[in-house]
Amino acid sequence: MTKKGWQEVDHYFTTKLHNQDEVMEAAIKANEEAELPSIDVAPNQGKMLHLLAKMKGAKHILEIGTLGGYSSIWMAKALPENGTLITLEYSEKHAEVARKNIKLAGLDNKIEVLVGAALDTLPSLKDKKFDFIFIDADKKNNPHYIKWAFELSKPGTVIITDNVVRGGKVTDAASEDENIKGIREFVDLLSENERIDSTAIQTVGTKGYDGFVISIVKE
Ligand code: SAM
Repeated sequence: MTKKGWQEVDHYFTTKLHNQDEVMEAAIKANEEAELPSIDVAPNQGKMLHLLAKMKGAKHILEIGTLGGYSSIWMAKALPENGTLITLEYSEKHAEVARKNIKLAGLDNKIEVLVGAALDTLPSLKDKKFDFIFIDADKKNNPHYIKWAFELSKPGTVIITDNVVRGGKVTDAASEDENIKGIREFVDLLSENERIDSTAIQTVGTKGYDGFVISIVKE
């Protein structure tokens, strides 16, 4: 199957199963207009995050890697009235676009964007516990992010990590690519940690061939 074929399948399912959502479409358009890289999750992946957060009954969500707030908005739409989402972004420009998108979506009362390198902003959250965590920033730092996720989680916390397959390159143990090294070290940390249960799902679609790790902190 070609990339075009994967895109057609994505289109078929999203047009059948998603409601036309002007808020989500406006966020994508604003990101394009601001010339943000098109590395946000695909619509069906955003909806998957939304459904998982809803299934979990998440009240407090943490996201590492905001970009223009597309995935933040998908997840925050699953929150109850008193729910919160904190999202961490390195780039001031990305954070500014995200804040505008979040305001337009009417979610600025629930979502807070913290600007700075996540490893600098994460310590400010050390007294919090989240029930849903989405890791989607610089992959080389995934080992640090998963250690923080352990720290900021409680029994039952769901942790989703994006872009772990990278076109299949994840299996290359000799890779010099710092992103691949980061992902492999992150997977080692998961496999060594008896507190956490995980699997990985390979994905194809509008964003190419990649995948997610899905984890839960054991009761
Ligand atoms: N989750 C977003 C979505 O699906 O809409 C996409 C996030 S994009 C893949 C990764 C983001 O992480 C970029 O906006 C990038 O600027 C940010 N980032 C990269 N390194 C970072 C760091 N050290 N700390 C915080 N954010 C970082």
